[in-house]
Amino acid sequence: MQKFSLHTHTIGFDGHNSEEEMLVRATELGWSHIGFSNHFIVHSQIKEAPMYQYALKGGYNNIYSSSFDEVIAKFESHYQKIDELRKTSDIKILKGMEVDYFATPEWQEGFGKAIKHLKPDYLIGAAHFILHNNTLYNSHDVKNASKPEQNQLLHRYWQNERAAAQSGLFTFMAHLDLMKKVGLGQEEVWAKEEAETIKVIKQSGLMVELNTSYYKFGDEPYPSRRIMQMLAQENIPVLLSDDAHAASQLGNKFTETADLAQQNGINNFYQPKSSNYLKYTNGKSFGR
Ligand SMILES: [Zn+2]
Ligand SMILES: [Zn+2]
Repeated sequence: MQKFSLHTHTIGFDGHNSEEEMLVRATELGWSHIGFSNHFIVHSQIKEAPMYQYALKGGYNNIYSSSFDEVIAKFESHYQKIDELRKTSDIKILKGMEVDYFATPEWQEGFGKAIKHLKPDYLIGAAHFILHNNTLYNSHDVKNASKPEQNQLLHRYWQNERAAAQSGLFTFMAHLDLMKKVGLGQEEVWAKEEAETIKVIKQSGLMVELNTSYYKFGDEPYPSRRIMQMLAQENIPVLLSDDAHAASQLGNKFTETADLAQQNGINNFYQPKSSNYLKYTNGKSFGR
């Protein structure tokens, strides 16, 4: 059984527990290490996005930044805390980020500078937002769109996933079929987009997470059984992610998910300290 998670969130972003509290729980679970991967979401128009007013009401404004300076300041203090904790921790602590990738030159330049400065250990690729007609849509905005627009947005979503995979920035991809969160993209017609994306992920040498946070909505993780079978066919390495926003969620549904993955043909589970180490964006490697 996997004894770590690289996909977790803490206070200061949208998590409910501090780094220390997460570490205590990881120790209780007998884990070898934990990675913190708070949201890195920067876009100049993010505060004009339709969802932003709801984000404010829900207390989620912490995770959205309209400038790189803003997000760098948040990560600086978070990473400083990790540096402190590393001095006394028995468990290995990694500095991660869950990054919303935008395929614009401005974003890429800003991101490159931010990474050079912050030096994360690994990066998770994600697409919580879809930029379309100069507007940023999150999953709930897609849900509220008209049917033809929804289909366009879903196509755009998969294009974004492929662009992120091809960027070479990421260690693994988060919750591939995120849009099923709002009941979208599950029909057979989307299997082609999924397969195309899996092909790009394979070519890019990325791993894919099996994200157990979907269990609060359904009887599977992200991604679906259909995508799991594609991952198995391409022999893409997978790892379990709890996407924990609280210490109590660490390791949630790992056993069920590993079983389900195996039932769908997956047996390439990422193991740190083996030859398939995590690729660091800054050129170092982890796990051996
Ligand atoms: Zn996410
Ligand atoms: Zn997350």
